[in-house]
Formats: sequence, C-alpha cells, structure tokens
Amino acid sequence: MMREGHPFERVEVPRAELLELFQYNEFKLWLIERKVRTPTATVYRCGSLIDLCRGPHIRHTGQIKAFRIEKSAAVHWDGNPEKELLHRIHGISFPDPKGLAEWDRLQEEARNRDHRKIGKDQELFFFHQSSPGSCFFLPKGAYIYNTLTDFIKEGYRKRGFQEVVTPNIFSQRLWEQSGHWDHYRDNIFSFQVDNHTYSLKPMNCPAHCLMYSHRPRSWRELPVRLADFGVLHRNEFSGALSGLVRVRRFQQDDAHIFCTTEQIGEEIEGCLEFLQDVYQVFGFSFRLYLSTRPETFMGDVEVWDLAEKQLQSSLEAFGQPWELNPGDGAFYGPKIDVQIKDAIGRDHQCATIQLDFQLPSRFGLSYIGKDGRVKASPVLIHRAILGSVERMIAILSENYAGKWPFWLSPSQVMVLAVSGSTADYAQQVHQQLQEAGIMSEICLDTGSTLNRRIRKAQLAQFNFILVVGEKERSTGSVNVRTRDNKQHGLRGVSETVRRLLELRESRCGNAEEEF
Ligand code: ZN
Repeated sequence: MMREGHPFERVEVPRAELLELFQYNEFKLWLIERKVRTPTATVYRCGSLIDLCRGPHIRHTGQIKAFRIEKSAAVHWDGNPEKELLHRIHGISFPDPKGLAEWDRLQEEARNRDHRKIGKDQELFFFHQSSPGSCFFLPKGAYIYNTLTDFIKEGYRKRGFQEVVTPNIFSQRLWEQSGHWDHYRDNIFSFQVDNHTYSLKPMNCPAHCLMYSHRPRSWRELPVRLADFGVLHRNEFSGALSGLVRVRRFQQDDAHIFCTTEQIGEEIEGCLEFLQDVYQVFGFSFRLYLSTRPETFMGDVEVWDLAEKQLQSSLEAFGQPWELNPGDGAFYGPKIDVQIKDAIGRDHQCATIQLDFQLPSRFGLSYIGKDGRVKASPVLIHRAILGSVERMIAILSENYAGKWPFWLSPSQVMVLAVSGSTADYAQQVHQQLQEAGIMSEICLDTGSTLNRRIRKAQLAQFNFILVVGEKERSTGSVNVRTRDNKQHGLRGVSETVRRLLELRESRCGNAEEEF
C-alpha cells in the first residue's frame, strides 16, 4: 500500500453533496451540520477511502517510509460522557526511519519535562474537579505568573501602552455587535440574569472598542494602545482540557492598538521589537510568517493592499527572515504569525499581530482628522506576546525542564544552618533576603548531614544555596553555592543581597555563573 504511492486527492464538495456522501455515518453528518459554515468543504480521497478533512495532506502514500500508531483510546463523542463511545487512533509517519527515531527521542525528552509533572514536583499549581480547566496557582506558581506579567508591564511603560481594567460580564448584545455571537457562541459561557443573556468574556477587544468610543477621539491621540490582563473564559470541551495548555480560564498579555492606516508600519515594527526583546530573555528563537488577503474578505481592496505593503516593509526593516503565507489572513485583516522554538526543538505559536478592519466599523469607531472633520474608522491591531500566560508557563516549564532562570525562579535561595548554634544567624540572613524581595527559604533541620541537605536543595532547583556556620556568623558572611554545585565561597551578606538583586534585574539566563 505504502510502496504503491496511492495519491491523496483533495476535492472541494458543496454542502448538500457532503450530506449525501456521508449519510451512512451519523457522526460525520453531525460534523457537517455543526462545523461546516461555508458553502463547500474539502474531502480527501485515497483509494476507496474518502473523508472530511481540512488538509493539507502528503501527496501520496509512497512518502511514508516509517509509521507508528501512537495512541489508541476510547473516547466519548464530542467529549460528552453521555454520548457514544468511539475509538480514537493517533498515528505518525516519516519520510525516513531516522526521522522516527529522532522523534522518539524528543518524545521521551518531552515526557521527562512534562509541565504537569514539574508543576506537581515544584508545587506550582494544581487542578481540581470543582472547576475543570481552571488552574489553582500555588504561591510558587503565582510568583512565576506575576513575574511574567510584571515583565510585560515594564515593556508597556517603555513603549507607550496604557493598562486598563475592564468588566468580565457582558450582555449578549455586545457579542452580537462584535460578530462573536455568530461565529464563536459555542465557546462562550452564558447565563440568564433578569431575563437577559450575559456572558463571561472570551476576549477583550469589544471592551476596548467601547473604551475607545466613549468620547470623541482626535488624530492627535492616535495611536491609542490599550493593554489588558483581564481574565478570559472559553468553553473548551472537557475532553480537550489538558494541563495548562488548554484551559477554560486564562489571562493574556492582550493589547489593542487603534491607529491610522499610515501608522500601521511603525506600530508593527514596534510590536516586532517588543516581542524580540521578550523572546530573547526567554532564549527562544522565532520565525515570522505574513498571512495576506484570503479569497473571501471584508473591507476595501485598497486598504488591504496598503496594509499588507506596510506589514511587508516593517518585516523588511526588522531584518529577521520571514515567509509569506499568501491568502492565509483572516477575513477581517492580514496578520503576522510568530512561531517560537523551545529548547528541545518544538514549535509553539504564542504571539500574534493581527490587523482588523472589521471590528472598528462594527463599533462605529472614528476620529477627528487634522482638518477638523470626522474621519473614517481607525485600524485596530490585536497583539499579544506571551499569549495566554497559563500556556506560556507550560511552555517555559518544559523549555527549562524546571530549572528556572534566577529572575523567574520561585525558589531562588535556600539558607542552610550548619548547626543549631547558627540557627539565629541563618534566620537573620533569610529575613534580610526576604525583605529585599528575594524568594528565600530556610532549612534549620540539622538532622541529616550538611551535604545531604545541600544536595536536596540543589535537586529542588534552588538557584543559590547559602550555607552559614560559625565562621560565617563571626564575619557577617555566607558561603555561596549554586544548584550546579559551583562554589563562589565566602561573601558578605549585604554584598550578596545586592548582587542577587542586580542579577534578578538583569533577567540573565545564567545568574549562577555570573554571580
Ligand atoms: Zn483582540
């Protein structure tokens, strides 16, 4: 079968014909009824097999030189435990056996780094059946969460973004106006109050449009850059929930830029520099993709052309290589997709820079031009760098394999007393670190050997271990070691605190070496 090179053939079929073609299978009919919202959809044919699929596919079965069934499990249809039990099979193929071997190695590596395991081992977070898909961040996880948002907030202050706070609950009418009710209703949590439907917001954009339009705007104010860490909810099927990667409750480093068409280029460049600064600190390399006007689109062709030209010249000016995805933009505007690569070579899509010509006109946004007359709508740019903070914590946990860089680490310093007689002094050192805002813990248990306690702190990924004995107490110092067992020796307490603060501020990736 594989060797014969049977082609995978893509066929576009009108909706009515699809219903006929798949009438033998109630599940496929359900899919067509619920998911196919366009007049046609694609099916793929290979030999006698024909199935619904968005594609893309490999050209023919001859390209499969290595193959493995990865997972095979019983699952309830639609993730709903009341519905039928079906069988789901995951398989993977490669054009050569070496590819499969390399993939196996990466899978093994990924299992060892699974963020759910790290989250449990390091007491970062947990989930509970009383709120499926919503994470409980324990103190150490909350430290990471807040440190990430603080990092982005610092960028906002430098780059002219203004942070705002918006409601969580909105009338169904707002989602009808924004168009989300038509396309996204299944993913919105809604409920009745006073005979009216309200929803938990799945995104911030409509609220920011209301904020923009609550008073007349002048060209002088543009661009307006509104940033919001508001809590978002999306109703994912319970079967699809997976650790921090797919959740129902999350926050984004979400911002919306309202600008003139002429300002698009400069704003995009600013967005690209911002995300480069952030990803550099994480140690991520990234790739950029420009997606342009699709076949079905809304708005004027001239506006699209002008916007795409500016996106293109921003990408050129930015100087990093980029690729074109022609026709892959959303119906409401072109976008730049950003793909990051983590420490074990996996790709993740986190940042987005999405132009929107549609939402501003749905909300009747406008500004007064230089000539004193009301101009047309501003352009809206949706942008995020971390994307969902929850998901970014999953990616970073696995990227660092739980060895957090000092600035982001929830376990920065462990103070160890050599013996009971130095417990008071250890307490003093610990307090000084805490007062300076460093994540310090203390171990006064002198029951096991010093070496064993040092080892334990190292395995718990404390970046620095400060050992204090009689000599340290009499000289007002600490003995500094790292989790990789590098020994920096005796240092004064105040000098140590100052140096640690400097290293944290620098957000360097190798504070243990630099100390
Ligand atoms: Zn948005």
